[in-house]
Amino acid sequence: MYLYNQPTGDAHCDELIRYTNMAMQEAKSFGGNHIYQFEERLCEIAQERMEMLQALNHSELDNEFELYFQPQVDVKGNTVSAETLLRWFHPVLGLVPPGQFIPVAEEGRQIIKIGLWVMHKAFIQTKYWNETYGEFRISINISPIQFHEQSFVELVIGLIKFTQVNPQHITLELTEGVLIRNTNLALQKIQHLVSLGFHISIDDFGTGYSSLSYLQKLPIHELKIDQSFIRHIPDNENDVAIVDSILKLAHNKNLTVVAEGVELESQAAFLRETAPEVLIQGYLYSKPIPAADFEEKFLANPSKLKQTQTSLN
Ligand code: C2E
Ligand code: CA
Ligand code: CA
Repeated sequence: MYLYNQPTGDAHCDELIRYTNMAMQEAKSFGGNHIYQFEERLCEIAQERMEMLQALNHSELDNEFELYFQPQVDVKGNTVSAETLLRWFHPVLGLVPPGQFIPVAEEGRQIIKIGLWVMHKAFIQTKYWNETYGEFRISINISPIQFHEQSFVELVIGLIKFTQVNPQHITLELTEGVLIRNTNLALQKIQHLVSLGFHISIDDFGTGYSSLSYLQKLPIHELKIDQSFIRHIPDNENDVAIVDSILKLAHNKNLTVVAEGVELESQAAFLRETAPEVLIQGYLYSKPIPAADFEEKFLANPSKLKQTQTSLN
């Protein structure tokens, strides 16, 4: 049984009805003979999302958003690349984690403007770091909503011209979900981006739709092993088996492989014993940090930068 109390006051009905439906589906998924009373949680979620949507609509990108960077480290301890991760510092809401605001921005489509801003800033940063410190690769997260915009590739080409960045220094991270919608169009876009020089990475690899056929069709350069598989290695046999097969797959297909969410020396040791070429990203080396801190800590010391097979091939 599903219970829903009519909201009072200025509740946002459309939003609430949508969440009510979601909750009802959730309740049904547990089977019969259960009572769920969702209205308080629903109101809270709807209210928070409305506030965030409004805040996103009024957000000032340059003042409130900042790119953070997290190193990707090879077996010799050299930082050969970094992933850029967005941070939103809202004057009232405070620091809102991307896990919270990205889905809202995708739903409200603000992600298109935000994603363009991220690419612009990341391109400028990539160019500057490559000119100053030598070859260095930056990974940028691309939302499916952004990727499926008709003009996505044209916008990217415009940004290359505007910033004069070399796309060979940039990896675009896509999730497997991108590849299940408009597969042919997605394939064409990816081929176009690769022809411009970008590398393509499959983020959260292993959590998606477990159809590996796209690996044959797409010109992919990198797999990122999702942190949920990393967390319990080397103790959990199932996770060890999954990580092991992803490492082998990447090796056989000559793909770069990045393990994310590595927090412990034991995890890094297992990964490197199995695949010495693996790149490690995680709190073991550093949390994501602002560009200036990253530069000081990981780039200003040239001995920490070496060209490897992952940097430019
Ligand atoms: P993701 O792309 O899978 O990024 C990895 C997440 O894992 C990041 O969370 C990172 O801070 C976190 N992480 C890294 N190492 C560790 C570790 O050792 N332990 C733990 N517990 N976590 C670790 P973050 O920065 O909160 O980002 C969350 C998600 O938000 C990202 O997941 C990505 O999907 C999205 N996101 C972040 N920045 C952007 C962006 O610029 N554009 C788009 N479209 N999405 C973004
Ligand atoms: Ca990512
Ligand atoms: Ca990921």
